[in-house]
Amino acid sequence: PILKVALMGLGSYASRVAKAMQDCKRAKITGLISGTPSKLKDWGAKYDVPEKHRYNYGNFDAIQDNPEIDAVYVITPNGLHADQSIRVAKAGKHVICEKPMGVNAEEGQAMVDACKAAGVQLLIGYRMHFEPKTVHVIQMRKDGEFGKTKFFQGQSGFRIGDPNQWRLDKELAGGGAMMDIGIYSINGARYMLGEEPVWVTAQETKTDPEKFGKGVDETIQFQMGFPSGAVANCLSTYNMSNLDRFFMTGSDGFVEMQPSTGYGPIEGRTHKGPLTQPHITHQTLQMDGMARIIYDGEQPIVPVDGEEGVKDMKIIDAIYKAVETGDKITL
Ligand code: NAD
Repeated sequence: PILKVALMGLGSYASRVAKAMQDCKRAKITGLISGTPSKLKDWGAKYDVPEKHRYNYGNFDAIQDNPEIDAVYVITPNGLHADQSIRVAKAGKHVICEKPMGVNAEEGQAMVDACKAAGVQLLIGYRMHFEPKTVHVIQMRKDGEFGKTKFFQGQSGFRIGDPNQWRLDKELAGGGAMMDIGIYSINGARYMLGEEPVWVTAQETKTDPEKFGKGVDETIQFQMGFPSGAVANCLSTYNMSNLDRFFMTGSDGFVEMQPSTGYGPIEGRTHKGPLTQPHITHQTLQMDGMARIIYDGEQPIVPVDGEEGVKDMKIIDAIYKAVETGDKITL
């Protein structure tokens, strides 16, 4: 079957998803949820979603009675994800939620529990898990082509503009760069090394405390240690332009990717040569892949489920604790 998806939060990333979904074979937009009537009207016309499948934040629980909606894709500010996802689950619909799934692990776990209780699936928008070059590298790692994985370096960031946007508002963002973009290095470390970290250390640099207020991190460098002895050394920032680079080396080979998580073509090479897998719009692959998860039980190479999201949230919690205390935090 085709996955019938309602988009919630009609902002910039939702626009990208909506456009990408026009090329999906297994997923389509059948509903819209927004607080702005004019957006509902415009998007409804553009994506052929009739008025009876358009909702606002006050009345969207009524999707419960709409058989034309199987899942809701929550693409709102981070601080709203948990409540909205839990409401979707209670309405009996599958939840697709953007990263970070919430603002801490407790929220993430509550989302997992709510979806389990409601008998619906919870998937997090980890689009890289469907991206062909990334999938190829993960498969190489699984096949032992790098030998024992030893070291990962992830650098994720961009220079953020408008000081009044929700990304710089602790309540709506849950934090700063780490929540938004540093999470790519965390998730990347885990899928590139193929292990879960057992400790983290972290140091914060804040050069503009006015723009990056309390609880909103500008730049954090962090380290993670893994059971095998592998280590990761990463940087998350809102104050350097287009920082998007992964490097991983094992006992027998290496991979470097730059860009490593951006929307455009991923580029990189391993000790065996350049990565040549095709570029396909990430969100198209993701939404078709998610339909296959939900309807065919076909799992991607690395999961995108709620538990996967909680793993990242626990690491983010630990990084913030490490910054605050200066301690090495055991996971
Ligand atoms: P955005 O500001 O462009 O869009 C957010 C939308 O939420 C807007 O339409 C806004 O009107 C709506 N909204 C609803 N309630 C709101 C409230 N109380 N305050 C402010 N806005 C409210 O942001 P975005 O870039 O589209 O990000 C949305 C989510 O998508 C975030 O969680 C972000 O982390 C995620 N995202 C993921 C990727 C990815 O590659 N996976 C990329 C960009 C954003």
